[in-house]
Amino acid sequence: MESSIGVFGGTFDPIHFGHLRIALEVLESHGLSEMRFIPSADPPHRGRPRISARQRLEMVEMAVASEPRFVVDDRELRRQGKSYTLHTLLSLREELGSAPIVMLLGSDAFRDMPGWHEPNAVLDLAHVIVMQRPDQPAPPLYRQRWTDDPGQLTRQPGGNILFHRVSQLAISASEIRRLIAQGRSPRYLIPDGLVEWIRARGYYADGEDPEAGN
Ligand code: ATP
Repeated sequence: MESSIGVFGGTFDPIHFGHLRIALEVLESHGLSEMRFIPSADPPHRGRPRISARQRLEMVEMAVASEPRFVVDDRELRRQGKSYTLHTLLSLREELGSAPIVMLLGSDAFRDMPGWHEPNAVLDLAHVIVMQRPDQPAPPLYRQRWTDDPGQLTRQPGGNILFHRVSQLAISASEIRRLIAQGRSPRYLIPDGLVEWIRARGYYADGEDPEAGN
């Protein structure tokens, strides 16, 4: 059986221990060969991120540097225009052939999936693991694709959806931005190295946040 490759896309504005811990749990539970963190350069369905894609990528690189099974993938920064997941998966398919791809989505992101560009084409290209987020139940979407059998994620290149109850960590990037804007410390929510990196640059300190309150 071929081992699957994990794909974890996000704005990562900033990356936090919620992302890192659940990515490791899913990787180990499903025997994934690696987890690719793919920062979204220009996310189609939300306000403009607070800091540039290049800087968000740099934070992801610092955060995953000590874990060899975590890989940073900058393909969305190398493309022009909105960062549609469909285009990302098509380019991954070109690179990986028919290897199974498992895409991680929090239950909140999964709820938004019907509004994505060609969601069924996305689901044909990769499996999805829906990760329960605190107080965000996974909605009953795309029912015919759900499976309880983790083996399905290695037998086919894509197409199935599996629910995974990860550790419930009520950490969100918007809450971290809010803390920093209030002059409070994000320590123990993000890696230590990032605390100083963000502070030295004054990021998130001015509190003008298009996503605040979401
Ligand atoms: P924001 O608060 O700005 O919306 P976020 O914390 O949700 O940010 P993103 O970069 O938007 O971070 O998230 C990337 C992916 O990680 C999404 O699929 C999201 O649902 C998931 N995710 C983020 N934080 C958690 C968490 N604590 N538990 C489970 N999934 C999470």
